[in-house]
Amino acid sequence: MEKIYDLIILGAGPAGLSAGLYAGRARLSTLIIEKGQDGGQIAITNEIENYPGQRVDVEESGPSLIARMTEQVKKFGADRVSDVIKSVELNGDVKTLVGNKGTYQAKTVILATGAFPRPIGCENEGRFVGKGISFCATCDANFFEDFEVFVVGGGDSAVEEAMYLTKFARKVTIIHRRDELRAAKSIQEKAFKNEKLHFMWDTVVESVGSTDGDDGMLNTMVVKNVKTGETTTINADEEDGLFGLFGFIGLLPKSDLFKGQVEMDDRGYIITDQDMHTNIPGVYAAGDVRVKSFRQVVTAAADGAIAEKQAEHYIANLK
Ligand code: NAP
Repeated sequence: MEKIYDLIILGAGPAGLSAGLYAGRARLSTLIIEKGQDGGQIAITNEIENYPGQRVDVEESGPSLIARMTEQVKKFGADRVSDVIKSVELNGDVKTLVGNKGTYQAKTVILATGAFPRPIGCENEGRFVGKGISFCATCDANFFEDFEVFVVGGGDSAVEEAMYLTKFARKVTIIHRRDELRAAKSIQEKAFKNEKLHFMWDTVVESVGSTDGDDGMLNTMVVKNVKTGETTTINADEEDGLFGLFGFIGLLPKSDLFKGQVEMDDRGYIITDQDMHTNIPGVYAAGDVRVKSFRQVVTAAADGAIAEKQAEHYIANLK
């Protein structure tokens, strides 16, 4: 028979790792399941400057911060498995998660699956993902060394990642649907001083394409001014033959797996109370996947700690 853990944590971003750390210290038998690399959104974030206690003597990146979190969790002994969970049964005293490699069971579960980048929403987008369109500057900035790059969005991610891209690209233009950024003022101040960074206000991308046929790289797009209705075609510089388009227009929750069992809002974010309880006893949600007003590494880590503490109480009451 499979082992029944005290706690399974699904997802090893800041929320899941923080829960893992607390569970290890509480001596709960714990399994952390992650399908890819640790870190979630933060694994593809270039610069972190607002996590309390982080290094300030060197530039802290998402991967460097998360690597230390992973190390710290390891020290307290949670089991780890790399697997893709395909279905879950969260009701009842024993929760069951079925993955490609095995079936996992526990008395409690923390859902810390995070969120993924929202698609830009323009015509032909799917055809050009990986062929000019990207959602990860850390992964793809190198590819655009000395090329022109466009970034869609106006929040913290768009502006920070656009600044990172200026280290590689010849020119970076932020395309934002309003005439004012949403990003934190400290981030805006840096952005407006960056000479390689340009802005296209009140603008959305309508469609993307290639003049080189079906297999061609992204080299043309139509943008629209939302105030005047005017459309403009932007073509890649002839010598370049292509340009980059990065989308940073917010996140969508990774919660499909739990639909029909866990209560969610109309966008799919999991509803919890302030102690991370979902509607199912013994099931908690932490981090970006839950309804909350402020998605940050520090708030995800806090959610994870709170969720673990509640799991501990729940298990204690079972005995
Ligand atoms: P966000 O804060 O939700 O901002 C999304 C941006 O995309 C907004 O400017 C929004 O425009 C725009 N947008 C949304 N839907 C759009 C659409 N359909 N077409 C065009 N533009 C659209 O998302 P984020 O920047 O990805 O950040 C996600 C979370 O992570 C936030 O809570 C953020 O604070 C946090 N974060 C924090 C840091 C940091 O603290 N250093 C860094 C990165 C991310 P409007 O402004 O017009 O709504």
